[in-house]
Amino acid sequence: MQFIYNKIFLKHEESKHPECPERLAYFNKDLKETKLENGEKYLNLVYNKGHIKLIEEHSKKELHLDEDTYANKYSYEAACCAAAASILAAKENNFALVRPPGHHATANKAMGFCLFNNIAIAVQNLVNRGKKVLIVDFDGHHGNGTQDIFYNSDKVLYLSTHQYPAYPGTGWLEEFGEGKGKGFTINIPMPPYTGDDSFLEILNELIPIVKKQFDPDVVAASAGFDAHHSDPLLQLNLTTNTFYETGRLLTKNFKNIFACLEGGYNLDFLHKNILDLVNGINKKPPQFPEQTTTSDIDVKNDFNIRIKLLKENLRNYWKL
Ligand SMILES: [Zn+2]
Repeated sequence: MQFIYNKIFLKHEESKHPECPERLAYFNKDLKETKLENGEKYLNLVYNKGHIKLIEEHSKKELHLDEDTYANKYSYEAACCAAAASILAAKENNFALVRPPGHHATANKAMGFCLFNNIAIAVQNLVNRGKKVLIVDFDGHHGNGTQDIFYNSDKVLYLSTHQYPAYPGTGWLEEFGEGKGKGFTINIPMPPYTGDDSFLEILNELIPIVKKQFDPDVVAASAGFDAHHSDPLLQLNLTTNTFYETGRLLTKNFKNIFACLEGGYNLDFLHKNILDLVNGINKKPPQFPEQTTTSDIDVKNDFNIRIKLLKENLRNYWKL
């Protein structure tokens, strides 16, 4: 897995916003730019014309889409290139280092720092080519947009780990999908202060089950890093080790893996978490190991109650 990167992703910015160009500063020093096509033509995989126009207009006029989702005059171009980078990442099993992020954007609403849903665009493109896709969304927030877009699909299994309660308020255990999509949404809502131990335990248990019973052609990682203990927006307690181990787990189970950058707002740790996820996927040693964290007893108890409920529900759809 290699990085797909372009300087256009630095031009989407607003002063003092946590989703800032400095998030990619480390990579900007070292990485060669990838030539990207204009991704505008891919937007209609998920969006209708009216919605695309609305985002373009907001960008032209530098207007907010909601309280915390900004657009400047470069945002539309950056968002189109993010879509193109994600399509390319899926083609080459690479990591699209994109901004703005995508997983909160639904098919008709830009929100939560996200304009267009990059991973959903890339995944829909794969589905249209007859592929079955597992999305593993380990951003610390629930990817409500991605869940919503594929909620009725049995071709896409959306699996999310996230803090709950937290923004955007969705992602509880009972959200399982609808119609044909029933059982193809799996939410693992973690209490604040969940540590490496609980996170890896449930992921290590579920991934082989999903591999065996869903057997995806492609795995799409919605790669956010705000579940790290240093992150200013959330209270989860994961270390860089967990992102490394997640990479290893995915590569042990699946052949075709690509990733799109979502959140992660601590500027000292973001690049370390990204690099060690990719080291895990590439079967290389970790570069930034930390002291592993464990959930304290109250957190662990709460986590285990949730997992028990999750499994009871999951048994309606999968053999556990
Ligand atoms: Zn996030």
